[in-house]
Amino acid sequence: MARIQLDAHDDIQTSQFARGRIHSVETMGTVDGPGIRFVVFTQGCPMRCLYCHNPDTWETGAHAGTEVTVEQLVGEFESNRQFYRNGGITVSGGEPLLQPEFLADLFTAMHARPAGRVHTCLDSCGYAFDPEHPERWARSLDETDLVLLDIKHADPEGHRALTGRDPARILAFGDELARRGIPVVIRHVIVPGHTDTTDECEALGRLIAPWRNVAGLEMLPYHTLGVAKYEQLGIAYPLAGVPEMDKARIPELRQAVLRGMKAARGR
Ligand code: SF4
Repeated sequence: MARIQLDAHDDIQTSQFARGRIHSVETMGTVDGPGIRFVVFTQGCPMRCLYCHNPDTWETGAHAGTEVTVEQLVGEFESNRQFYRNGGITVSGGEPLLQPEFLADLFTAMHARPAGRVHTCLDSCGYAFDPEHPERWARSLDETDLVLLDIKHADPEGHRALTGRDPARILAFGDELARRGIPVVIRHVIVPGHTDTTDECEALGRLIAPWRNVAGLEMLPYHTLGVAKYEQLGIAYPLAGVPEMDKARIPELRQAVLRGMKAARGR
């Protein structure tokens, strides 16, 4: 995986598009959407997941991350276009919904590329969405081909314990995606002691059952690869002592989600 930091360039002064604040880009992403992808990690996240691997993306504000233009990112993409034939671009985070104008301009530009329309994927936790003002994200979602939506916990209390935030906005975002019929892959991190029971996974299945646009389900076993970043940043690691998730249990828990979905759909 090639993760690079973009430098600010002069064309920031002349961009016709919204500027964005990003953490970094990855030019050969293989786990954030179909095929090989150009992945943009935006800066800023309102959640505080106990297992977050990227605490360095949390900070928001004028001095956090690197300011970039859509043109810079399009240029980076085009310089390696041949690699993305069966993939496209993914905007991840941090939380991309915090920058709706930038997201909309970037996806619009990728869809309009003269060399061919580029598949767009949004990797989001959904929390920045405001159901009182869905119009703020209308342009972004008009240009989104696929969403990877993280549902962290099926139970509101468990969700607050795991992320520090209430899940209502996230579920409202899921409803909005369903209303629009945008294909969604649900992502669920399985954390020992938090989300590793069949009850929780069945409840997740019931929760997402009304969304007929669910096109996939990724059950991600918790691992401890993010610990080093916490040490670098001098932050105490919240899940210290929690073991990595036993991958052998993932199929059983996946079945529990599917069972919950089927039960809620009455078949
Ligand atoms: S939503 Fe993602 S970036 Fe934000 S705290 Fe959770 S894991 Fe980290």
